[in-house]
This record gives sequence, structure tokens and C-alpha cells, in this order.
Amino acid sequence: MMRSIIKSVARWLVACAGQIDRRFVLILGMLMVSVLTVAPVSPLQGLGAEPNPTEWRGVHIMAWGLAGGPEGLIPLKEAITKVFHPMGVNVIVFEVGYNFDYRSHLELRQTKFITKKDAQDLVEHCRQYGIRVIPQFNCLGHQSWRNTLYPLLTQYREFEEPPEAPPGQRWTELRSWCPLHPEVNGVVFSLIDELIEAFSADAFHVGMDEVLVIASKNCERCRDKSPAEVFAKAVNDLHQHLVKERNLTMLMWGDRLLDAEMFPYGKGWETSRNGTAPAIDMIPKDIVICDWHYGKHQEYPSVRYFQEKGFRVWPAGWNNVDAVRSLIRYSRQNNMGGVVGYLATTWVLEPGGFCWALVGERHPALVSQRALDAAQAFHAAMEELNASADQPH
Ligand SMILES: [Zn+2]
Repeated sequence: MMRSIIKSVARWLVACAGQIDRRFVLILGMLMVSVLTVAPVSPLQGLGAEPNPTEWRGVHIMAWGLAGGPEGLIPLKEAITKVFHPMGVNVIVFEVGYNFDYRSHLELRQTKFITKKDAQDLVEHCRQYGIRVIPQFNCLGHQSWRNTLYPLLTQYREFEEPPEAPPGQRWTELRSWCPLHPEVNGVVFSLIDELIEAFSADAFHVGMDEVLVIASKNCERCRDKSPAEVFAKAVNDLHQHLVKERNLTMLMWGDRLLDAEMFPYGKGWETSRNGTAPAIDMIPKDIVICDWHYGKHQEYPSVRYFQEKGFRVWPAGWNNVDAVRSLIRYSRQNNMGGVVGYLATTWVLEPGGFCWALVGERHPALVSQRALDAAQAFHAAMEELNASADQPH
């Protein structure tokens, strides 16, 4: 578009040159040059130091639960040096959850954990390669898996949003805290603050995907409120703390903001069926929405939707090569100025398993098929990003 305008103006100038005052043509030409030399506004401006101002090329690393603890750090550092940096990765989202040596709440630390020193060493290693580390702590939902409750709800039973469905039903197995409990933020924010300090973070990912238990009729605080209202309250409290008070960039997963009736993504949890989607109009627009879709589609209309609503969007794929390529192409073609790049998720349970796969380790105890698939899709994504970058969009 811009090129065709430039060509038209240039042709017109040439045509005019013989007919009107040459000084006028000269001034017009200088004006045109000054317009062309002004850099386009990047969606990342105002977010602090960026290793690459044009694109967030990110990898999401699981460092919690089974994948938690220090053993994953060795292959991660090796992968940073040998693979991430050469391939242009400039952001790592490091999902650490409760697997950190929290000093403010020792009771909330998982058995396997990394220390503040481990975090600082990782950040320092990344800094050498121009890679930004964004820590992640899953907020609100994902406070359990199957029959295992995570530390917050084990130690503070009163924080749980009581599920409506009987035990054993699938959706009750991802449990939540109640964002209206008057004491929950005090505890959670102190954990978040420790991660911000340990990782010297200028951005924080709050998770908030797959929040399935919300605004329960069994909760005396929430029962008269809508799920969207309660979800937005949790988002806004986190935004107040992270963005307004601490001046960080806030990131969250996008699935609870997408109405399943509006978006043809299938029956999974990547869209909301529990009434949270209207929250999209109740939360600040400076949050970066991580729009995850792992299946192959011709179109990913949520990428446009989030931008139309005023958000920056970070499309995220996983382990399907065709899907990853399709998502990246669609996002590039439908970048209205708010697509910040691409985030490769990995979801490997073995500590360091994804990174071992990337650097060529094939021992089955370290590297699962899941890790190999994620590594293959990561490579495809990097190729696609390079290919797409060469084309006009
Ligand atoms: Zn509640």
C-alpha cells in the first residue's frame, strides 16, 4: 500500500517538474523523504528495552510440577546458546508456578524448586544473548491437576472457589481460587513480587487459562455475580498490582475472553463456555493477550478480534507443524499493528526434556516423543517466521 502511494507521488512529481516552480517540487520531495524515514510505530514501543524491536520470538518453557526444579536449567542454558540465540529467539516465558524457593511463604513452595540465585543466573545467561525472561505464575485457575491440589489451596483451604459439580467430573479437576476472598491477593502478590525481583522482570505472565470453576453458586461471595464480572475483577486486581503499581507489562492467556459460540475452534478449552467472555470489555487494553491455538485451521479470527478490541496479541502454537505454520501465516497476514510476534509453547513434563530434544539428546528417559514433536514444531515455526519476514505483509 505504502509503496504504491510513494510510486504515485513520485510519478506526479516527475510530471510536475517541467511545469511548475522547481523550488516547490524540491520542498515537496524533501517532505516526502522525511515521511518515509520516520520509522513505523512498533506495537512494542513503551515496553522498555527490547532485544529486537520488531518481533517477539518467544518460547514458553514449563518449569513447574514434574518439570520443576534446577535440573532443567542445564539443558535450557545449552539450548539458549546453541539453538534459541542462533534462531533469533528473544523472549522466554518461564512458567515456574510454585516450584520456586519462596521466602515470604515457605509453606507454598513445592518439593522441587529453583532458588533466587538460579533465577538470576538464568537471567544473566539470557542477557548475554539478548533474551528477555518473562516469569509466569498461573493465577486464578489451574490450582490443581486431577486429584492433586497445589500448595495455595492445600495450605489455604478457605481460598478455594467451591465447585458446583460433584467430585470426579472432569471440569472440577481444574480448581480455582476465589478472587473475591479478601486475603487471597495479599498472599499471591507476595509470591509474584518475589518472582519479579528474582528474574529482574519487566513483564509478567499471569496465566489465567482454562478457568473452569468461577462464580460458583456455592460461593457466598460470588453467587450473585456473573462469571465475566468475577473474571474481570481478578484480571483488574492483577493489572492494578503489576502495571499500575509496579510498571510491568502484563500478559495472560486469551481463551476465557473468547466466546465458544463466536469462534470455530472446536470443543476444547481454547474458547469459553462458562460465561467469562464478556470480560473482554471490562479489562485494560494494555494487557498482551497470548492467543493459543494448537489445531490447524484456515483462519484464526481471534487474532483479529483481540486487535479490534484494542489489545496486542501474541499468537501461540504448540506441536503440530502444519498448525504452527498456518497460525503464523494467518497472524502475519492479519497483523493490524497489534501482533507482537509468535510464542512457541512446549508442554513437556520431563525437566529440560524439550531443551534436551533441541540440542540432540535422544535418551528416552530424558526425551519423550512429546518433546521431539514440540522441538520439530519449534523448528518449523522459526523457519516460517523467517520465510514470512521476507514477504511483504
Ligand atoms: Zn467466590
